[in-house]
Amino acid sequence: FLQMAGYMRRFGEEFQNVQRGLDEIQDIALFEDMEVQIEDAPDAPDFVPGAGEIVFDDVTFAYENAAGALYEDFTLTITPGEKVALVGPTGAGKSTFVKLVQRLYDVTGGAIRIDGQDVREVTQASLRSAVALVPQDPVLFHRSIAENIAYARPDASMKEIRRAARLAHADGFITALPQGYDTLVGERGVKLSGGERQRVAIARAILADAPILIFDEATSSLDNETEREVQAAMEAATAGKTTLVIAHRLSTIRDADRILVFEKGRVVEQGTHDRLMSDDGLYARLAAVAAG
Ligand code: ADP
Repeated sequence: FLQMAGYMRRFGEEFQNVQRGLDEIQDIALFEDMEVQIEDAPDAPDFVPGAGEIVFDDVTFAYENAAGALYEDFTLTITPGEKVALVGPTGAGKSTFVKLVQRLYDVTGGAIRIDGQDVREVTQASLRSAVALVPQDPVLFHRSIAENIAYARPDASMKEIRRAARLAHADGFITALPQGYDTLVGERGVKLSGGERQRVAIARAILADAPILIFDEATSSLDNETEREVQAAMEAATAGKTTLVIAHRLSTIRDADRILVFEKGRVVEQGTHDRLMSDDGLYARLAAVAAG
């Protein structure tokens, strides 16, 4: 009986571990779009990171359950190191664009190439480490804050973790936490504000050192102070890297090398903020609404 009780207890503990694992998987914003199972091609090589060029070559894409194609013959090149802001009304196709870059879905026609490599022909794991994503509302694991930052680089030293956090303007609030970098955060740990979680996610992206960065900006408004901190963190993270930002804030858009204005699955205008303002088209109208 005692042996049996021992088994039961161990089973219970195992079950808790499994449950904890499942909770964490649910926490991972990265997986929220993995409704579609995408398989690596047999013997697919790893993606070889280059300068960070992204090419949409005559891309057609339709969601499986959608009536028609969202993109048709979509062709666009993002040059290495370019900072691109994606703007446009809800449903225009901004998020889908970044999902396709990450290969969360496969295109129905044409190809997407990063540094000359078709995203369908390389392993997904290697692609994921070359494209770092900072989601709108990052969810942290129930782990220490240091482990959260080192998520993509579990071998990182404490020195590297702190350097990334400093660049991300996160070191200040982290060192003020009860156990500093060892503080447990996430679901059952210390709750961080949205702006703090964003900076942790930015520190994670800095440490990952991927050649391509994608930001999905939070739509909810941050206070001015936090806004400035997050903005400075983004600037530090994106230095020298190809950057895509699904933009909701004017400040980000103004500094972009190029703004892509999406409407109904097409890029209807593109250029710098000043250029698009003087064109007085859809962008100028959206900017006027955003400025209130
Ligand atoms: P945006 O980011 O500009 O708001 P999205 O790229 O999210 O636009 O959406 C573009 C279009 O694709 C919308 O019509 C949206 O309803 C549709 N869409 C987005 N995700 C899915 C999905 N998983 N399945 C079917 N349709 C989708």
